Amino acid sequence: MNALTATNRNFRHAARILGLDTKLENSLLIPFREIKVECTIPKDDGTLVSYVGFRIQHDNARGPMKGGIRYHPEVDPDEVNALAQLMTWKTAVADIPYGGAKGGIGCNPMDLTVSELERLTRVFTQKIHDLIGTQRDVPAPDMGTNAQTMAWILDEYSKFHGHSPAVVTGKPIDLGGSLGREAATGLGVVYGTEALLAEYGKSVSDMTFVIQGFGNVGSWAAKNIFDRGGKVIAVSDITGAIKNSNGIDIRALMKHKEGGGTLKDFQGGDAMDPNDLLVHQCDVLIPCALGGVLNKDNAGDVKAKYIIEAANHPTDPEADEILSKKGVVILPDIYANAGGVTVSYFEWVQNIQGFMWDEDQVNRELNKYMTKAFGDIKAMCKTHNCSLRMGAFTLGVNRVARATLLRGWEA
Ligand code: GLU
Repeated sequence: MNALTATNRNFRHAARILGLDTKLENSLLIPFREIKVECTIPKDDGTLVSYVGFRIQHDNARGPMKGGIRYHPEVDPDEVNALAQLMTWKTAVADIPYGGAKGGIGCNPMDLTVSELERLTRVFTQKIHDLIGTQRDVPAPDMGTNAQTMAWILDEYSKFHGHSPAVVTGKPIDLGGSLGREAATGLGVVYGTEALLAEYGKSVSDMTFVIQGFGNVGSWAAKNIFDRGGKVIAVSDITGAIKNSNGIDIRALMKHKEGGGTLKDFQGGDAMDPNDLLVHQCDVLIPCALGGVLNKDNAGDVKAKYIIEAANHPTDPEADEILSKKGVVILPDIYANAGGVTVSYFEWVQNIQGFMWDEDQVNRELNKYMTKAFGDIKAMCKTHNCSLRMGAFTLGVNRVARATLLRGWEA
């Protein structure tokens, strides 16, 4: 199912549970502003190439809009729109004072050299600089972008507006980035998992895990699971998948990858078909890659008891239905992966204060926010007798609806 159709469906379901006024419901769904720009750059060989860049600003009732910028061949307006909307509910669930936005450029960053990526990022920033800003819309990294991308945006933006470190988060530490930001999404996933498992009297060390994706989110989630004694028995990335029923040595795998090795040639596990990964026998499945990976075709074969949505919208509504009938508990994306944007908020606060926190403080605060949000979701589940996904959606949508009404409708 198309990402936007799926996200809209979840939103409308939450709006019905909350009994929202239809006018308010429709206005919450329509993005505040959709930006589409042409980005033409010379390649290193001098030939010109054009890409399309997007920034969709979904809602700003609770504060400046916030969300990542993705460089990926599959970036399209519907996908970015869905992701922007998810950011609105995510920041509200985490209870950080932001709205939601998302951006992206339809390109394959692996086909571009570093200087081509820099030119592309600068051209994109030139096209959107008037519409972003510390109190307006604050981009961050997402798939295919990283701290270096944020450094280029900061530099280009500052040429127009003066030095503005808080205009982006996920920056390099040397430019005002926060300690702990890089690991934050993966660590937040594990704090969320701990909160969920505690409900069932279990802990990470009792469980076997399968992780799809070993990028920024998956690798830090895996490392934190490994450090807590959890067994990661299968993992995949774009090069392939490996399994080891005794548990993969995640620290060794991270070292191997840092040294330029690929997952496929890592000796600490046996190769497996990446298509079998999502239906591999395990207690906890953590999709950390693209959206829509759990759908009506494979949901029936999933063996995990818990699914932690570290990726954005990895589960189609059809799969949601099949999985919940099977009794699988799903920790939804707008909560499970909120650790990244939460530490982005801490970074923004530090930039505005001109003061740097130590890493322990960052992680302690992150744990506090993740634990509090889980309790808030559970309270909504109890009030509305609904799934964790609807608990999270009703929590987020209700906070945004309240802020919208308080600000007033008068023109
Ligand atoms: N791209 C991340 C997300 O999808 C982080 C966004 C941010 O830090 O603003 O939540």
